[in-house]
Amino acid sequence: MTTLPLDLPEPGGAVMSHTARNYDPLPVTLTSGEGSWVTDTEGRRYLDCLSAYSALNFGHRNPRLVAAARRQLDRLTLTSRAFRDDRLDEFCAALAGLCAKDAVLPMNTGAEAVESAIKLARKWGHERKGVAAGKAEIVVFEHNFHGRTTTIISFSDDPLARCGFGPYTPGFRSVPFGDAAAVEAAVTEHTVAVLVEPIQGEAGVIVPPPGFLRALRAVCDEAGVLLIADEIQSGLGRAGYTFASDHEGVEPDVYVLGKALGGGIVPLSAVVADWDILEVIRPGEHGSTFGGNPLATAVGREVIRLLEPGDLQARSAALGARALDRLVAAELPGVLEVRGRGLWWAVELESGRATGRALAEELSRRGLLAKDAHGDTVRFSPPLTTSESDLDLALGIIEEAARAIADPGS
Ligand SMILES: *Cc1c(COP(=O)(O)O)cnc(C)c1O
Repeated sequence: MTTLPLDLPEPGGAVMSHTARNYDPLPVTLTSGEGSWVTDTEGRRYLDCLSAYSALNFGHRNPRLVAAARRQLDRLTLTSRAFRDDRLDEFCAALAGLCAKDAVLPMNTGAEAVESAIKLARKWGHERKGVAAGKAEIVVFEHNFHGRTTTIISFSDDPLARCGFGPYTPGFRSVPFGDAAAVEAAVTEHTVAVLVEPIQGEAGVIVPPPGFLRALRAVCDEAGVLLIADEIQSGLGRAGYTFASDHEGVEPDVYVLGKALGGGIVPLSAVVADWDILEVIRPGEHGSTFGGNPLATAVGREVIRLLEPGDLQARSAALGARALDRLVAAELPGVLEVRGRGLWWAVELESGRATGRALAEELSRRGLLAKDAHGDTVRFSPPLTTSESDLDLALGIIEEAARAIADPGS
């Protein structure tokens, strides 16, 4: 091992560290969190309006989720799927119920769940539609984000995510997001599925035109292919409904879930579908050592209990609509567009002026944490449990910060 001099400054001015540089975080070091608030090493407090990309929909250290984790820590944490445990089936039944589907395949991270859904669709197409081995195709959308594995980045069009990581996995066709006619044109005899984010998150909270999801549902029904909704970021209350697909009353064939499913405590993801689809995966054909472990499913079961009454979803819809109205009405200088759904919105800056990163940094100086997305966009996704007064505070800070970077002299 080469020993790095620990105090040698890097070109950017930061101290040399041993952490791989696959991220470029804001210069804030957090030490604790509670609800919608986090505290840094200097004792400064910030409103968390990123919520770990929606993994913290129920806030930091939600007392019910922490209690569920504690109870389970004192009983059993891991068995592997070689044996049964007394938590898994209860979790799968509850999640299947929330999705109005038959069954659940548990995994850990979002990318693993997307990979699992891709394998499921290919096997289903092979066995049920007679698609020849190695020929299956899946229709995806431009500017998608589904994770970071080699197969998933193979159908990304983000050069940062993709370039240099080849060779790429074949079997994907990409069409413009929001264009159901393009999907219809891309479907061939080899197509097994359409994989869609009902609202594109990483692309900058892109809400598709009205009727798009219903049109997709019709195209999939007509062609006899699976509609797979990646609701990892858009689901579990974020967009004002249990699932963003609910906004158009659309039921996908397969849900892919993650992020908030683990309550911000553990990684927990899942593929949810009816038996006539999920049954094509048989013992030994797919798995994960940690997938569905009892610590994760104990937390996941409590996450579903938080969502079952529906009031968090309604809160997200009502407070989100109010927030969006206020931000639009503020007519902020240098802002091209404010858009979103539920407690999930994006502020897109006019290009050639201040960057999204500059706005995120200005926000952090004013006590609010958010993250720039693609282009000059900053996305906001506060915990669904954020109080109305904290939301008002957040909106005030966003307005002040946008004005400050538009007119640095003032
Ligand atoms: C975050 C995300 C993923 C990947 O989840 P990881 O847990 O980071 O692997 C996949 N799809 C969407 C829509 C996401 O937002």
